Amino acid sequence: MRGYITIPSSVSCASCIYCGARPIISMVEIGEYIVKCPNSDSHYQTEPGLIDMDDWNLHNTVLANRQVDVAPCPTTDHFFSLNGTIMTLENID
Ligand SMILES: [Zn+2]
Repeated sequence: MRGYITIPSSVSCASCIYCGARPIISMVEIGEYIVKCPNSDSHYQTEPGLIDMDDWNLHNTVLANRQVDVAPCPTTDHFFSLNGTIMTLENID
């Protein structure tokens, strides 16, 4: 039995990174689902199993947008942010 489940619009999920389509959930086996692009099987789809929206979102988000703030600032330990002003610890009494 094959069936497709459309994802309610109330559920936030990434669009297909290739074509921008909203993903659908497809049942491949009883109790096994994939999240996939409705337009092409060659676009990303999750491994069969539980509905893994996190995996879909991870693979359909532009990586450049995910790497902001990832690299730790080497001077974090030495500076202190107060109301948007960066000051050195020496200046704080
Ligand atoms: Zn697609």
